[in-house]
Amino acid sequence: MNKIKMINPLVEMDGDEMTRVLWGIIKEELLYPFIDLKTEYYDLGLEYRDETNDEVTILAAEAIKKYGVGVKCATITPNAERVKEYNLKEMWKSPNGTIRSILDGTVFRAPILIDSIKPYVRNWTKPITIARHAYGDVYKDVEMKIKGKGKAEIVFTDENGNENRELIHNFNDDGVVLGMHNLNNSIESFARSCFNFAIDTKQDLWFATKDTISKKYDHTFKDIFQDIFNNEYKEKFKELKIEYFYTLIDDAIARVIKSKGGYIWACKNYDGDVMSDMVATAFGSLAMMTSVLVSPEGYYEYEAAHGTVQRHYYNHLKGKETSTNSIATIFAWSGALRKRGEMDNNNDLVEFANNLEKASIQTINDGYMTKDLALLSDIDNVSVMNSEEFIKQIRMRLETIYNN
Ligand code: NAP
Ligand code: MG
Repeated sequence: MNKIKMINPLVEMDGDEMTRVLWGIIKEELLYPFIDLKTEYYDLGLEYRDETNDEVTILAAEAIKKYGVGVKCATITPNAERVKEYNLKEMWKSPNGTIRSILDGTVFRAPILIDSIKPYVRNWTKPITIARHAYGDVYKDVEMKIKGKGKAEIVFTDENGNENRELIHNFNDDGVVLGMHNLNNSIESFARSCFNFAIDTKQDLWFATKDTISKKYDHTFKDIFQDIFNNEYKEKFKELKIEYFYTLIDDAIARVIKSKGGYIWACKNYDGDVMSDMVATAFGSLAMMTSVLVSPEGYYEYEAAHGTVQRHYYNHLKGKETSTNSIATIFAWSGALRKRGEMDNNNDLVEFANNLEKASIQTINDGYMTKDLALLSDIDNVSVMNSEEFIKQIRMRLETIYNN
């Protein structure tokens, strides 16, 4: 076949450990044979991040701003152990955090559904996409342990020295206090990213807070979302026949459980942290979760939601066979290629992205899958594949699509 041409490049960010191994195989087996792959390559593997004092991560984020679309492999976020293991100059920050702060984006996580893997919640027949606000609240709080009697107050001093204070509590005995904040700017970009992504994927958007109890803090989130919706998105939503739906967080939980899925659920920072783990588990496996960072300006960065699968990598290094699921990483590529195709009006590329996903799902439906899925699937005769065999099975099916 003639290889599919690309017009503009994708920003490709390589990563670490087992996912770096999969990255190479995916390109060899599923991309190079079918498309004239055009990428601007950035090596975000920990060794190169260390060598460049993490400059490479910043350059990659700037490149996403330039080209509009990126695809990223999972990367190690160093901790004390990793500093020793890789003999690092510094405990470099999380690349995802660095990229997110440069693009000011929101992360959307959605599960990939497979017929033979039933979600724990039986009525969830469509994916639930979770959008987590990634700034502030309890993640940037200040806390204090209180010993004995005294009063705790919250004080805001403006630039002219005027004070505004509220009593938190008159303590008669030991206790705890916490102060947290958020920024209207950040909530506004979060809201716009969510409304844009709802339009982009033609799904309803749900948002929930505890505004009845938190009449200023949570209510600000509610008001900002509603104002931006009314002023900027109402018409477009009407045209697409999608809806923006606001409710209280506890009501949202009840509705989510009873729903069929098929919408985006915008969550405040803590809700998103907790609920994304619940949703991922209920749909089956972390290895089937995709993740895309969308900036308010409309830059996209695709990746798998899982990490570098360190345990499998250490087995791989010992020469042992691995059965690591590459689906979420493949869907990161298909997501990025589809978006590239849409931006460039390149239909062949959009179609390739669709076919790559179709071939991947077909492979699993035919009973060929990695160990993690074999444990969840209700197919009787499952063939458990190693990491490479599984990707080769997908290639066979992709070739069949293109040879017919
Ligand atoms: P992980 O890589 O997500 O893996 C945790 C466990 O989940 C694995 O040991 C494996 O379970 C299962 N798993 C995850 N992905 C799988 C896949 N594709 N196929 C099969 N099983 C899969 O999380 P971690 O071990 O906590 O973190 C490892 C490294 O990844 C850390 O250095 C962390 O900093 C980094 N990380 C990066 C990102 C990112 O770049 N976005 C996100 C999270 C973590 P079994 O061992 O039971 O088979
Ligand atoms: Mg969590």
